[in-house]
Amino acid sequence: MSRGTVVTVTGEIDGAALGPTLAHEHLYCDISVHSGRADNRVTDTALVSDELGAFLRAGGRSIIELTPVGIGRDPVRLREISERSGVQIVSGIAFYDESTYPDWVRAATIDQIADYFVREIEDGTEGVRAGLIGELASHNEPVANPAGYRLREAEERVFIAAARAQRRTGVAISTHAALGRGGHAQLDVLERHGADLTRVVIGHCDAHWHPDIETDLAYYLPILARGAYCEFDMVGWTELAPDPVRAERVAALVGMGHERKITLATDTCRLSQMHRNGGRGYDHLWSSFLPELRARGVSEAQILSMLVDAPRTALSGS
Ligand SMILES: [Zn+2]
Repeated sequence: MSRGTVVTVTGEIDGAALGPTLAHEHLYCDISVHSGRADNRVTDTALVSDELGAFLRAGGRSIIELTPVGIGRDPVRLREISERSGVQIVSGIAFYDESTYPDWVRAATIDQIADYFVREIEDGTEGVRAGLIGELASHNEPVANPAGYRLREAEERVFIAAARAQRRTGVAISTHAALGRGGHAQLDVLERHGADLTRVVIGHCDAHWHPDIETDLAYYLPILARGAYCEFDMVGWTELAPDPVRAERVAALVGMGHERKITLATDTCRLSQMHRNGGRGYDHLWSSFLPELRARGVSEAQILSMLVDAPRTALSGS
């Protein structure tokens, strides 16, 4: 990938054409294999293309689609959704929870896994190339203890492969670091194996929260200090954290000047989240969350930094 460009499912574009971007979504996925919930089977391309109309009307332009192999990743379907809806889609390549790894991954060497990532980035599936590595998962832990979290052995092998593939291709890496607050452990492995941490996005920073904002900032700020992005990608998941709490934390980080290193999204992956089924839709960020940020003093320019500049610099390197 050449610096300054972004690889979408319909081809390479200039980074400047990316526009307002949701940095962590699912448009075609089947997490029911993992969760057992039929609600997690989002495989109706006509429905999703239709739902994206509200996203475009709200002001969105691009979506980073991070469905990993093992829970329904299908880049050819993503191209179909992009062509039908007019939304620019960047597709990730990665593996999810260890229980969903394809069998070959368990037996493969680290270099074989890295070669696979590189093939998906350089050649793709039926010509549809991945534009980044993600969402690259390590396990959830019920207790949020950033200092005590360690990647499991199989996860570590996949993370090392991702670091090697990033060095060979220059793409971004976007992670799943959920309840256990594994962001630092993920960065430790990636850093040891030569990844460029300034192109790493730590996902699900808002899947957990502490009533004392200082405790949360003590997780976010060292991630930013290491050069990585902090992603608030579970906006609208009020069962995990109320949106006003998210907005308060984003506003605090923006107040410290970090808006170019914060990415935003709503991690949509359920049929019940679609407007047609009474859900919030892919426009929730615009209809509900951006007003929360404005109410806390976040400016339009700072919002655009998070929605446009941060995803562009992560994906294109400039
Ligand atoms: Zn996700």
